[in-house]
Amino acid sequence: MADSAREGIVQNDQKTLAIVPEIKFGLVTAELLEKIASVTRKYDIPIVKITSAQRIALVGIKPEDIDHVWQDLGMEVGYAVGEAIHYIQSCPGTEVCRLGQKDSLGLAGRIDEAIKDLPIPAKTKIGISGCPLSCGEGIIRDIGLFGKKATGWTISIGGNSGINARFGDTLATELDDDAAVDAVVRLLKYYKENAKPKERLYRFVPRIGIENIKEALGF
Ligand code: SF4
Repeated sequence: MADSAREGIVQNDQKTLAIVPEIKFGLVTAELLEKIASVTRKYDIPIVKITSAQRIALVGIKPEDIDHVWQDLGMEVGYAVGEAIHYIQSCPGTEVCRLGQKDSLGLAGRIDEAIKDLPIPAKTKIGISGCPLSCGEGIIRDIGLFGKKATGWTISIGGNSGINARFGDTLATELDDDAAVDAVVRLLKYYKENAKPKERLYRFVPRIGIENIKEALGF
């Protein structure tokens, strides 16, 4: 997976490639932006696109430049296709937002660390929000979380945007940080054990039934 993602995604012109270096939770630094700008100029990359996954795609790279681009970037691959966690999207939460009730960026980091080595049966997206306004879009992600100061985290599963749009079903409520991380890990293990090949969570959840999943996970 990592190797194919590193080779780049063939574009409409059937000649050039796009790559998506990993940027976690949409957080960048001045150094990172300077590096991307420098590589973009050096290899004459025509399109730099901020993606819906809060990453930066470099589009229109000549195939002979791909290895050099990765070398100069010195960044990890961000998954844009295939069976993997594609991204964890997070709103600013209490770090930045005046309405924040919980530390969504902090939880995103903890979940990312906890699930990074788990096998994943299909494309999976996670959205995390620091309050019920849910700017992290979790309700239309495979796994969504939002936080309330008084009661903790709510987890929804099986949401999706796009042509098969679906609101997620509530898996659990009133979880503290540790319990929320643990719930996501246990859910992904259960999902791996019971999913059909490449079955997205928005199909898996209605097929198995939210009440059956809750029972299996002890919620
Ligand atoms: S979900 Fe809440 S905390 Fe997060 S950005 Fe939106 S208003 Fe702020």
